[in-house]
Amino acid sequence: MIILQDRSLLPYNTFGINVKAENFAEITSLDDLRAGLRTGIQPVILLGGGSNVLFTRDVEGLVLKNNLRGIQIVREFKNKVWVEVGGGEVWHEFVLWAVANNYGGVENMSLIPGTVGATPIQNIGAYGVELKDVFVGLKALNLPTGQLKTFNHSSCQFGYRDSIFKREEKGKWCITSVVFSLTKTPHSLNTSYGDISKTLESNGITSPSIADISRAVVQIRTLKLPDPAKIGNCGSFFKNPETDRSILERILATHPQAPHYPLPDGRVKIPAGWLIEQCGWKGKRVGNTGSYDRQALVLVNYGGATGEEVKNLANAIIESVEQGFGVRLEMEVNIWPP
Ligand SMILES: Cc1cc2nc3c(=O)[nH]c(=O)nc-3n(C[C@H](O)[C@H](O)[C@H](O)COP(=O)(O)OP(=O)(O)OC[C@H]3O[C@@H](n4cnc5c(N)ncnc54)[C@H](O)[C@@H]3O)c2cc1C
Repeated sequence: MIILQDRSLLPYNTFGINVKAENFAEITSLDDLRAGLRTGIQPVILLGGGSNVLFTRDVEGLVLKNNLRGIQIVREFKNKVWVEVGGGEVWHEFVLWAVANNYGGVENMSLIPGTVGATPIQNIGAYGVELKDVFVGLKALNLPTGQLKTFNHSSCQFGYRDSIFKREEKGKWCITSVVFSLTKTPHSLNTSYGDISKTLESNGITSPSIADISRAVVQIRTLKLPDPAKIGNCGSFFKNPETDRSILERILATHPQAPHYPLPDGRVKIPAGWLIEQCGWKGKRVGNTGSYDRQALVLVNYGGATGEEVKNLANAIIESVEQGFGVRLEMEVNIWPP
């Protein structure tokens, strides 16, 4: 493993922020990871695909880019398989592997950028499916002690775009591999969410396979979301707020069309993109950054933006939504330094 000094992180974050890492190394084995920890350089920051992180200044310490690879079936049942996947595998490549092998469960999460090791951190989700629905367990190495530990489903404490790794255990672990439970036939298809059924219909598909669903999701996402290779972004910048019904009632009094979705605990989820749009931010550009014109929830870098600029815009949006609606948005993206 080679440790490089003053390495630009521009190619390693999808926001396209040009900051430097004081020390930077790519890890391809647990030995590399342990060697990195033995240097004693602090802090150690794990980086996957850099698709959910906003760097607001140069990064002190040691940035380890996770390149731990490997996909293997670890248990086989009559109707399902358990697959262990290296934390540095590219998530979408794993989805394509699953689809090609006719293993179901992850097809709705096609084309989410980033690595497998980062997926449990915010319990990624899309089109009605979340990581927790296919998650069995993970292995992680404790950064302070170098000990490997297994986390099962309940110990990850998954929530909406949330897990223990975003709270109590934040920054303490390197997730080295994740085990998923995938279906053989029959698959449990989920086509009810978003535009999936409409897209399948326009593709002339009446009884879809998991490959058809994956292709439909890729089609929809390509139309709706900016491609980070062309315009820097981290996908949704904010979480959709989950609020008490009384707050919704107040909003409905002035905005009877306000979209909202009931939650099992009696509260409601209000789309953050709608709130941001109502406050006049959709498509608005501020310096080199702005809110994307096709999806207000996505903040973009038009070129040359600094992390600080994006963070300032995010804070201005939070203030404005709070003043307008009494709802405080929470950032989904990880800000560095926290
Ligand atoms: C265009 C676009 C669309 C997106 N759409 C979605 C979507 O539909 N649904 C969704 O949920 N997300 C979405 N995202 C967000 C992002 O893709 C996911 O959060 C993804 O899981 C981040 O993976 P990553 O490897 O890039 O993580 P990074 O950005 O590299 O890291 C994110 C955080 O996790 C930590 N980390 C990374 N790897 C490890 C590891 N192995 N062990 C411990 N800590 C680690 C980092 O330190 C950082 O704090 C989107 C992003 C973009 C750019």
